[in-house]
Order: sequence, then C-alpha cells, then structure tokens
Amino acid sequence: MDAAQTLLLVLAIQLSLAASGWLIAGTVLGLPRGPALHWAAFCVLGTAATLPGLLGTPPLSAPVVAAGNLTLMGAYVALTRGVVQFLRLPDRVAWDAAALAAVLATSAWDLLAGWPPGQRAAVVGVVLAGYSAVCAWRLAAPIHRGYGVLAATFICGPLALTTVLFGWRALRLMGGAVPAAQVPMSAATALNVVVLLVLATITLLVNLSLSYLVVVRLVRRLQHLSSHDSLTGLLNRRAFLAQLDGELARLRRGGPGCALLLLDLDHFKQVNDRHGHAMGDAVLMRAADALRESARGTDVVARTGGEEFCVLAPMTDAEGARMLAQRLRAALRAHTALAGQGVQVSASVGVALAPSGSREAADGLLARADAALYRAKAGGRDRAELDAAAGFA
Ligand code: GH3
Ligand code: MG
Ligand code: MG
Repeated sequence: MDAAQTLLLVLAIQLSLAASGWLIAGTVLGLPRGPALHWAAFCVLGTAATLPGLLGTPPLSAPVVAAGNLTLMGAYVALTRGVVQFLRLPDRVAWDAAALAAVLATSAWDLLAGWPPGQRAAVVGVVLAGYSAVCAWRLAAPIHRGYGVLAATFICGPLALTTVLFGWRALRLMGGAVPAAQVPMSAATALNVVVLLVLATITLLVNLSLSYLVVVRLVRRLQHLSSHDSLTGLLNRRAFLAQLDGELARLRRGGPGCALLLLDLDHFKQVNDRHGHAMGDAVLMRAADALRESARGTDVVARTGGEEFCVLAPMTDAEGARMLAQRLRAALRAHTALAGQGVQVSASVGVALAPSGSREAADGLLARADAALYRAKAGGRDRAELDAAAGFA
C-alpha cells in the first residue's frame, strides 16, 4: 500500500469512527438530532468518497469516478447544512442544489461524451472550492457571534483551506502537467499526498470543532436550567440569592441603597381549587410577565417559591420602593385577569430597604422583607408593607 492509499485508509477510518459518534449522538444521546444526523451523513459520504481510490486500481472507470465526486460534494453539502441547522440560519437550498447539480452535470458530460480526466477533476475541484468559500464566508460571522473566534476559525478555516486546496489542485490539473494516470487521488503523487494529508487534518479539525459547538450549547443549556425557573423563565431562588449577595457586597463599599420586594399571590390555592392546576400555571406565567414588563431594566426579578416572587431594585429608596410595589401590584392584577374565566389575583408585598454602607447579610434582609410580607397578609392582603414599623409614608 503506497502513501496515497495509506492516507485514504486513515481518512476512511477516521470518518467512519466520527460517523458512528454522530449517529449515536443524534439517536441514543438525543443531542440536536438534525445537525448530528447531517454530520453523520458528512462522515458516511466522506468515507464512501474514499472507497473508489481504496478499492479500485487506476485508471478508474467513469461511473466510479462520478460516484466518488458526487459523494465528496454531498459530504460537504451535508456538513454545511448541518451547521446551518445547528445555528438556525436561513436555509439556502439553492446554493447546495447548484453545487450538486454542477458536479452531476460534469459527471453526466463525462459519462456521455468522455472528458480528459485532468479537466474533469479540475472542474469538480473548482465547484468544491467555490462552494467551500461561500460556506466559510456565510458561517464565519454567526459562529463567531455565538461561539467565539476559536470555533469560527476551526470550522471556517478548514472550509477556506478546502477552497485553497482544491483550487490549487484544479490549477495544477488544468495546466495539463499531470498525466491522466496520476489524476485519481489514490495515485501516489506528491500533489495527491499533500491534498490527502490536508484533507485528513481538515476532517479531524472539523469534527472536533463541531463536537465543541455541541458541548458549549449543552453547557449553556445546563447553566440556564440551573439558574432559571422552568415554568416562568424567571431566575430561580439560587440565582436570585447570588445576585442579592453581589448587590449587598457592592453596598458595603458605598453607593445608593437598594430595596428588596417579596411578592406573594393572595389566596392562590383557590385558583387551583376552582379552576384547576393548569389555569394556576397560566396565571403564574402571566404574573411573571407582569413583573418582567413593569420592573426596570436594572431590577432583578425571580420566582423564589410556588406563588412567591422576589424583586431586587438597586438604587432605590423608600419612596421609589413604594412606587415600584404599587406598579408591580397593578400590573399583576391587570395581567392575571383572565377575561371570561372569573380569575383575578392580587398580591401582598413585603419590602425591606438596605441603605448605603449597610453590612447586613442576605438572610437578614430577606427575613425583614418576609416580616413585612407577613404584616401585609395579616393586614388584609392586597397591599404593600415596609419592614420599618412606621410603614410607607
Ligand atoms: P395566601 O394569600 O395566604 O398566600 O394564600 P395562598 O392560597 O396563596 O397560599 P398557600 O400557601 O395556602 O397556597 C399556595 C398555593 O400555590 C398552593 C399550591 O398548590 C400553589 N402552587 C404552588 N406552586 C404552584 C405551581 O407551580 N403551579 C400551580 N398551579 N400552583 C402552585
Ligand atoms: Mg406563598
Ligand atoms: Mg399566596
């Protein structure tokens, strides 16, 4: 086995292992199914493209060459379509169809009329080079935006390298310097060995980078799940406490004080009892929307319990907190009024203030807000109370 065939074998083994990985990822592991199956197709087609060179001996028959070229083009199309799907970019079927049609037309022309192998391979090379250039150009910015410069470099770099590689090969072939017997990739020429070596590196880099994209998305999803409430999408208790700790640490170094508002929906159990749990969930989602929309951009809103919400309002004094509590209560009342269903809930609010320079811990502030909430409930509900004995002015 010569150098070119050895490299083809390395490429085939590497791609078939990666194909199994993507198949398992897309089916058993339940990773993004569409992209994983496209990338499995990329690897399967890539493996198939090595077979004519591995199994046949040059000169290869025209149908075998045509099949090899089509599977190679198909591999690149599957790779980039998978990335487009993964990034949820607009589909550009026309580009993919045009590239495949160009290779198909070249093969058909070769089968019908016969074509010097060098010229035929050069045309296919130009199509592959052009397609890779367009894809590298199109994918670079979205990958950079979502996954950083390294991911963009390691996915679009290999695509750009494909352009250079096949463009360079096409130029050499068009120049007519390559004898017909040396045109197939399996012929052991220096040109082919370089091309195969670079291809093996490209496919390895691309598969590793695609795995990186998947892992980054998984980690981000897990981080989101661990810090957000699944019903309302608001921050959960743990994430809220982290934000509160940060704000209190800032307060210790001075700067304007903050307000903590604890909101509890009144008689919420009755909503479930009268209208069912599903309606209760719908009301909770509307309550979350109300808080999200009426809080300020700098406020932190969280669902910290079943029908309990917290709002941390930085740079807020007693008067600001009173106005905020009023606005939140009005919004809650308006958003949870479900027309025709006889549902409307009010909320009781407990407010605690942390002044500038305060050294109080989160536990203390929460306990004061809780005590104020208790007073609001005991005082008849549907109202806001400040933790200070004097209450709101
Ligand atoms: P109060 O005015 O004293 O706060 O009365 P309440 O009925 O709101 O308070 P209570 O603590 O008695 O009941 C809270 C109810 O919230 C009971 C529980 O079934 C409901 N709840 C908690 N989490 C969820 C949820 O995720 N979905 C739904 N639908 N209901 C929930
Ligand atoms: Mg409660
Ligand atoms: Mg309640």
